[in-house]
Amino acid sequence: MAKTLRSSDAYQDWTFCQIQYNFLDEETPADTDGLRYAASRKLGIVVMEPLRGGKLAVPNAGISAIWNAALTKRSAAEWALDWVWNHPEVSLLLSGMSTLAQVQQNLGAAGMSEAGMLAPGDLDLIARVRDAYNALIRVPYTACSHCMPCPQGVNIPGMFQLVNEGPMFGDRDMQRKRYGRMRGEGSSADSCIHCGACEEKCPQYISIRGQWADVAEQFG
Ligand code: SF4
Repeated sequence: MAKTLRSSDAYQDWTFCQIQYNFLDEETPADTDGLRYAASRKLGIVVMEPLRGGKLAVPNAGISAIWNAALTKRSAAEWALDWVWNHPEVSLLLSGMSTLAQVQQNLGAAGMSEAGMLAPGDLDLIARVRDAYNALIRVPYTACSHCMPCPQGVNIPGMFQLVNEGPMFGDRDMQRKRYGRMRGEGSSADSCIHCGACEEKCPQYISIRGQWADVAEQFG
């Protein structure tokens, strides 16, 4: 069978690649197939955002209940980091740390982690947490940005990210600040004039204008 060529094959001297990868972003923006392909090319693989900007380390009450019911006790951060370390293709994991305690916690977790360490029951548990997070998604956007550019300058993917992350991660203060910054820049949903140009381009047929009421409810 002919080997499928990828754009990354145009240059042969890569020594490593860096991808965003965590149990919630298993399929996007890099995916497990891409991870395995890079490993098959003998590239070192550096994983960033294993905790999705730290959000996976501070789960909401519903997600915490699932983690806490597990027989094996790990913190939410440890589960997320171990899910990444469980992949034999991963060479290095980058996790932002701002305190000495976080450095020590991450070193301790890394010292006890290895590829293949998670049992099938552990992976089922993580899949249930992933499903619980995904059930909170309000707008099924894929961040493809085909709807852009908006003639009024509305950052449509940025709006959807805020709408989804509100229920998923619950950091309302931070999200309100982000919305306020976007409003100041003129890129929030407030700038929409309902022309409909974005909806004509959306491959997911999302009723984009119909989402702004949700935005207003959450951030208006
Ligand atoms: S409907 Fe609103 S968000 Fe969509 S392209 Fe028109 S102005 Fe931009």
